[in-house]
Amino acid sequence: MRIGQGFDAHRLVAGRRLILGGTQIDHPLGLDGHSDADVLAHAIIDALLGAAGLGDIGMHFPDTDPIHKDASSMAMLETIARAVEALGFQVANIDATVFAQSPRLGPFRATMVENIATAVRIAPEQVNIKAKTTEGMGFVGRGEGIAASCVVLLERDTGGLQDISTDE
Ligand SMILES: [Zn+2]
Repeated sequence: MRIGQGFDAHRLVAGRRLILGGTQIDHPLGLDGHSDADVLAHAIIDALLGAAGLGDIGMHFPDTDPIHKDASSMAMLETIARAVEALGFQVANIDATVFAQSPRLGPFRATMVENIATAVRIAPEQVNIKAKTTEGMGFVGRGEGIAASCVVLLERDTGGLQDISTDE
């Protein structure tokens, strides 16, 4: 088994769409970035890359490359999930937290889970998304940005050998 963690933060600005977990959310401000700035997707990508020992998101999608301008972060997540699969890993679970003072994310949670599960090719039950405010503290609390953190667990297919340890 391999564990990986990811963290990301983007600035909230006018004139940008707010996209979290592949879901467009109606909000006066959106996240600024080279891609669509889906901070949740980016934290998940970094957690997957970390668990698989594949570096970080900037190595795979450099923001100096115009091809990634306004890129779909869910497409990036699909690409990385396939790279992780190619190494023989399966995702056991994804647990992520979004730090946002506003908007309220509860109504969008199920859609975000569905989008992420589809991109990674796992069941929605293997994806957990939590939303937190920071009670007005810091850049999140002041509404200057949104952050996300994520942990993933990968399992490698060992051809049934793992069953030995579960024998009673
Ligand atoms: Zn990012």
